[in-house]
Amino acid sequence: MGLTLADIMQARARIASLAGGTPLVPSPFLSGVAGAEVLLKLEIAQPIGAFKLRGALNAVSALDEDVTGVTCCSTGNHGRGVAFAARVRGLRAVICMSRLVPEAKVAGIRALGAEVCIAGDSQDDAQAEAARLVAEEGLVDISPFDDARVIAGQGTIGLEMLEARPDIGTILVPLSGGGLAGGVAVAARAIRPDIRVVGLTMSRGAAMHASLIAGRPVEVAEVPSLADSLGGGVGMANRLSFPLCRDYLDETVLVSEEDIYLAMQALFYEDRLVAEGASVVGIAAMMAGKVDLAPGPVATILTGRNLDMALFARVVTGRDVVLGDYIVEGRPYAP
Ligand SMILES: *Cc1c(COP(=O)(O)O)cnc(C)c1O
Repeated sequence: MGLTLADIMQARARIASLAGGTPLVPSPFLSGVAGAEVLLKLEIAQPIGAFKLRGALNAVSALDEDVTGVTCCSTGNHGRGVAFAARVRGLRAVICMSRLVPEAKVAGIRALGAEVCIAGDSQDDAQAEAARLVAEEGLVDISPFDDARVIAGQGTIGLEMLEARPDIGTILVPLSGGGLAGGVAVAARAIRPDIRVVGLTMSRGAAMHASLIAGRPVEVAEVPSLADSLGGGVGMANRLSFPLCRDYLDETVLVSEEDIYLAMQALFYEDRLVAEGASVVGIAAMMAGKVDLAPGPVATILTGRNLDMALFARVVTGRDVVLGDYIVEGRPYAP
C-alpha cells in the first residue's frame, strides 16, 4: 500500500488542533526493568482518553460535504473517536458494538451524543450491523483499522515520538487490527530506517498474530480479555493494515492475562498512571522479559484509559478477575 510519511504529515496538520501533541514521559521504574531508558507516549491524555481520536478525526474531516452521517463497528475507543469527530462536524453517528464492550465505553460514546447499537457477541456481528446501516440508511462506514485515513491519523503518533526523541531504538505498539501499528511503523521507518517496531497483543484471541503466521487474514475466536480493546478480527477482506503489519513489523509478541494484570498494577503503583489492559501490553512484555530490544531508548504507547473502574479496582487491590470461563488469580502488587 502506498501510505507515506507525507500522508501522515498531512493528517497531523488536519487533526493538530484537537488531537495532537500528547506528552512522551520517562518511566524510571520501567527503565530499571528493561535496562534501557523507557519512554511512555501518553495517548491516555487525549480528550476521549484514547489515541483513536487521531484516525477518526482524519477520516471524518476528509468526508464529502453531502455526507449526513457515519457509522462504525468498534471495541469502544474507535466509536468514541468517531462520535467525537462527527460531533465536531455536526454529523449523525451510529456506533455498533458487541456485548463484550465494557459499559464504561458505551456510556462514554452516548455522552458524546452518538447513537449506540449493541449487536451480537463479536466484532464481526457489530461490523455486519454497520454494513446494514450503510445499505439501509446511507451512512458512511469508517473502519477502525482498515482505512487509509485512519491509519495515517494513528501514524501521527510515530511522527511525534521520533520528532521528540530521534534516538528511540525500539517502539512497542499494542496490536489489534493493526491500524495503529501500521501507521506508527510507516512513520518511524521513514524517519529512522533501522528502528525496531514490535507489535504486542494478548495470547487470548490474537487475530493479527495468527494472520501474520498464516500469511493471510484468519479468524480466531473472540474471548474476554483484560485487553478488551485488542479484541476482534482483522477482517477476512483486509486490504491495508494486514499488509502494512506484515511488511513493517519486526515481530509480534504475545502476553498472557497474568502479564497484563501485573503490568496494570506496576504502571499504577510505580508511575501513578491509570491505563487499560490494551495499553500495557508493551510494559507487560518488558516485565516478563518476552521482547528483544534494540540498542537505545524503548518507547511504548499508552493507548487508552477507558476502563471499567470496578475491574481496575480489583486489579490494583490484588483480587481475582473473572474473564468468562477464565480466572486471572489475584495477587497483591509486589515491586
Ligand atoms: C484500538 C486500540 C488498540 C489497537 O489498535 P489497532 O489499530 O486496532 O491495532 C490498542 N489500544 C487501545 C486502547 C485501542 O482502543
